[in-house]
Amino acid sequence: MSSRILIIEDEESIAELEKDYLELSDFEVETENNGRTGLDRALKEEWDLIILDLMLPDVDGFKICEEIRAAKNTPVIIVSAKKDDVDKIHGLGLGADDYMTKPFSPSELVARVKAHLARYERLIKSGMPENDMVEIRGLKIDKTARRVWVNGEEKPFTTKEFDLLTFLASHPNHVYSKEELFRNIWDMDSIGDIATVTVHIKKIREKIEIDSSNPQYIETIWGVGYRFRI
Ligand code: CA
Repeated sequence: MSSRILIIEDEESIAELEKDYLELSDFEVETENNGRTGLDRALKEEWDLIILDLMLPDVDGFKICEEIRAAKNTPVIIVSAKKDDVDKIHGLGLGADDYMTKPFSPSELVARVKAHLARYERLIKSGMPENDMVEIRGLKIDKTARRVWVNGEEKPFTTKEFDLLTFLASHPNHVYSKEELFRNIWDMDSIGDIATVTVHIKKIREKIEIDSSNPQYIETIWGVGYRFRI
């Protein structure tokens, strides 16, 4: 079965060019030229990858990327006409998987699409629910047995540390605010506040990171929250 790709792009000639090249590589491709309908289809239908323009009528690509990330892990490649946008994408911590600046060569786009699909497939397989194991680089989590190994060595985790790590690792590339993490991991009536999240992240990093001041797994997105990197 071929992979389904959604292109959200208002410049028809670009959308058609991208579509043609991707179809030549046997992808199933649909295009949307409006931000609102694009976002709607991105969320309601199943896609293997989304190619997203930033400047769109009705709803812009920044907002669309944010909404997709809040709901799904579908790979997103952003295409933008402005080099300045690259800084903005980073600054916002939108969780886009890749970005390309226009004009780009269509064959380069196809190569990147293939690379992201392959990476995403590996990720899905490693996170398969049947064995309930999450394996990302040197980190291995057994959700059922509630055990964690770092480079083959088992590490002790408290209940909340385990819940927080597993939650983040099960939603890789998704940026969560401290408030969202607190709501998801702690009961509403539990004692504590969002500072608890910071303390727990610190303890988890001490256990899983080689250098917790330069984390490879749980990344701090300044002013936003945290993201588990894959
Ligand atoms: Ca545009």
